[in-house]
Amino acid sequence: MLRNVSVPAVYCPSRCKWIPRKCSVFIWRLGMNKLATMDALKKRNMDNGDGACVLCGDHEETVEHLFTACGVASTIWSVVSRKKDVIQGIVRIGCWCIWKSRNDIKFNNKEVKIEGIVREIKSFGLFWYNARSRGSEISWPEWRSFVNM
Ligand SMILES: [Zn+2]
Repeated sequence: MLRNVSVPAVYCPSRCKWIPRKCSVFIWRLGMNKLATMDALKKRNMDNGDGACVLCGDHEETVEHLFTACGVASTIWSVVSRKKDVIQGIVRIGCWCIWKSRNDIKFNNKEVKIEGIVREIKSFGLFWYNARSRGSEISWPEWRSFVNM
């Protein structure tokens, strides 16, 4: 009998093991559009304000606005996505540098120097990122904040 009951499709993101449960529950509520944003509070007559976004004050605060269109959120996402791109590149450059050092040890009788490999990862990373990032160069201090080595 229960097999005939249709269950509405809900947003259920895959679980990320290293974030706390409260954060996972928040993401689940966000996906279900069950956050107490200003538009949701207004619909329930729980707020008498103008419904403006608390972060920017420029638009009605909805889930979509707060986490995507809001100037504050979009600035944060651009910084975070840039870091993600940097981290992905650093891991690949790290593998390449380890492989290069392995070959230097095997074929050129060089010694293992971890500090040198780390220095190469940092310097190649910054050089290649700035050479290929098309107008969004990173300064050495900014790079060091991305790459905490
Ligand atoms: Zn906003």
